[in-house]
Amino acid sequence: MKYIEPHAHMVSRTTDDYERMALAGCAAVCEPAFWAGFDRSSPAGFYDYFRQLTEHEPKRAAKFGIQHFSWLCINSKEAEDVKLAEEVIALVPQFLDRPNVLGIGEIGLNKNSRNELRVLEMQVELAAKFNQLILVHTPHLEDKLKGTRLILDVLKNDKRIRPERVIIDHVEEHTVEMVLDCGMWAGMTLYPETKCTPARAIDILETYGSENIWMNSACDWGVSDPLAVPRTALEMKKRGHLAKAIEQVIFQNPKKFLGQSPNFKLGK
Ligand SMILES: [Zn+2]
Repeated sequence: MKYIEPHAHMVSRTTDDYERMALAGCAAVCEPAFWAGFDRSSPAGFYDYFRQLTEHEPKRAAKFGIQHFSWLCINSKEAEDVKLAEEVIALVPQFLDRPNVLGIGEIGLNKNSRNELRVLEMQVELAAKFNQLILVHTPHLEDKLKGTRLILDVLKNDKRIRPERVIIDHVEEHTVEMVLDCGMWAGMTLYPETKCTPARAIDILETYGSENIWMNSACDWGVSDPLAVPRTALEMKKRGHLAKAIEQVIFQNPKKFLGQSPNFKLGK
């Protein structure tokens, strides 16, 4: 079964993971810039990370027949230091014309702090200025509802941002509706421990439909599963979803959203 993994942190994964994803039918993987599991000490750390995402990782993926795309930004977990954030944001434009770059992401909020919000606004400005797609990380657990509301307000208040060019990731039962209602796309993250389990994700699809929704593993350096998308597809099949409906969620939907970037071209 062919699928697109629209959100994975492959710099933290092994070549074995790439091989298993290829065997499971992964055609393309998209990697948003995120926290490395530790705070970087300088903008130079981000400069090298952006080079890794745009130069090295596409070559690593290509060895397994997988296309690799990336998103660039400073993540919300390292956005508390506004001066650092300004310096990192200033590095981003020189990478935007690299052939695998899809947009600005994953920006958003982590603890919903004032500084995070300020950095979020700076990066929405960056996306608007360079006409880039936006991928948003929403906070976890008790911070999610409030954080999602704050993020949607920032995006809706900027009239240059077209909602269909924004995906709000890590939605759950209590946030998916407000995202879809304002015309943005919603991403469900399939995590073995926190976030959505496959069963919960399928419940959400059955409740809200599969228009403008995708699923991702968001696999990284923590407890996560790079095969979460095909595993959930199998679960959908067991629950009686038709092959065409499964294909829409795991392939056609991400292709449609990401295809809004001129850099997202799938090979034959
Ligand atoms: Zn992520």
